[in-house]
Amino acid sequence: MAGTAGGFFLSDGSTAMINPYRQLPSLDALLQQDDLARLIDRFGRVAVRDHARSVLDAVRARIQQGAEAPDGNRLVSEIRESLEQELAPSLLPLINATGVVLHTNLGRAPLSAAAMRAMTDVAHGYSNLEYDLKEGRRGSRYVHAEQLLCRLTGAEAALVVNNNAAAVTLVLRTLAADREVVISRGELVEIGGGFRIPDILRQSGARLVEVGTTNRTRLDDYAHAINPQTAALLKVHRSNFRLVGFTATVEISELAELAAQLEPPLAVLNDLGSGTLLDSTQFGLAYEPTVQDSVLAGADLTMFSGDKLLGGPQAGIIVGRKTWIEQLRRQPLTRALRVDKTTLAALQATLTAYIRGTAAEEIPVWRMISATAEELRKRAQTWAAALREAGVAAEVRTGESMVGGGSLPGQTLPTTLLALPAERPHLLAQQLRLARPAVVPRIEDDMVLFDPRTVLVEQEGLMLQTLLNTLRP
Ligand SMILES: *Cc1c(COP(=O)(O)O)cnc(C)c1O
Repeated sequence: MAGTAGGFFLSDGSTAMINPYRQLPSLDALLQQDDLARLIDRFGRVAVRDHARSVLDAVRARIQQGAEAPDGNRLVSEIRESLEQELAPSLLPLINATGVVLHTNLGRAPLSAAAMRAMTDVAHGYSNLEYDLKEGRRGSRYVHAEQLLCRLTGAEAALVVNNNAAAVTLVLRTLAADREVVISRGELVEIGGGFRIPDILRQSGARLVEVGTTNRTRLDDYAHAINPQTAALLKVHRSNFRLVGFTATVEISELAELAAQLEPPLAVLNDLGSGTLLDSTQFGLAYEPTVQDSVLAGADLTMFSGDKLLGGPQAGIIVGRKTWIEQLRRQPLTRALRVDKTTLAALQATLTAYIRGTAAEEIPVWRMISATAEELRKRAQTWAAALREAGVAAEVRTGESMVGGGSLPGQTLPTTLLALPAERPHLLAQQLRLARPAVVPRIEDDMVLFDPRTVLVEQEGLMLQTLLNTLRP
């Protein structure tokens, strides 16, 4: 008797359906197979047995509905998919071909090699995170990046917390709970992800006092709003939009001068957002306020992110006057916002590159920003040539990259893009996102575009291979 698809020839030449349930292996037999042994190595016997059992149950239910029994390979891949969907890590590295250097959805700043080494070093074993090696007793985790931050910014003291949203909340809660904070109507911004300055103020228990208008705020507006209930004057950087036309804004230096005339003096707070240490104009960009300028202009506390233009790990950095920083350190909320050892290690290593003066070469974010037009054109052309050689229609076109991540709004950098014409560009983009490693391109004019600026050089080979595998399966 020869088996055919789903039936057997009987000796009289007719066919009879065999019982499809009988074609399914038993759970025990299934677990003996080599393919499943590999899954057991990855996910453990218990999980594989559970998933194999539910896949078998589902298959039996389908057979009941009239479906055929799946063959062995199909069965194994159903079990693998089921396991991967539940248990494979969901956080995956990917290739950012969007040309947005600081992409919040894609994890913001990639870290420098030195930062990653420093993280691994402290992660591998124990460290003196909160231990004074000289005295042999408890120390403070907050000392670790402080001296570097003070040297780089000119501030007296510094404190690092979990992110800048936490830094702003902590500062307002500590300095202004149940009191008033004066802010310009032009700076009541939403940063993204629901982070709105008025909400943060409310959360921290401070009362918001709006002054000026959306487009114009003058020093007088602040001066008139000050009363014995006032705790601070807050300035918030317009990270993600520009105010143009008939406008007037007040500088930190003017606020500092105003605050200093009062007794006791008011705190001048500056939420810088991206807070760069390098002068962005040297890379052909507009001026993004530096942390040093904020300190020099007289801000009592300046808050900024670790993973925006600083190019380090996620962190919220507060620099400024020692008396305020000490107050922040004593505040119980600080304990809830504290950073872990790997963050501090990466931050120290990142800051050290600025001390050495090698940040523009060492820190990926700045390397990407400072990539020359010539260099980017060559890379895009090389990609296109490699794909054409493999029979794929590929072109290059000029385009623009963005800094993104709440810095330099509206600013673009000229680049050259790899462009793949596609009948269904959104489908191709989705296939690339679902490939491993995932590649995230952008789409314009029915073209799927890849910007070499944000693709790490060491990822290029893998990216081209993924493109080929996806385009010519
Ligand atoms: C980005 C940003 C924040 C939030 O910083 P996170 O580090 O993302 O928490 C706050 N304020 C401003 C002005 C920003 O640009």
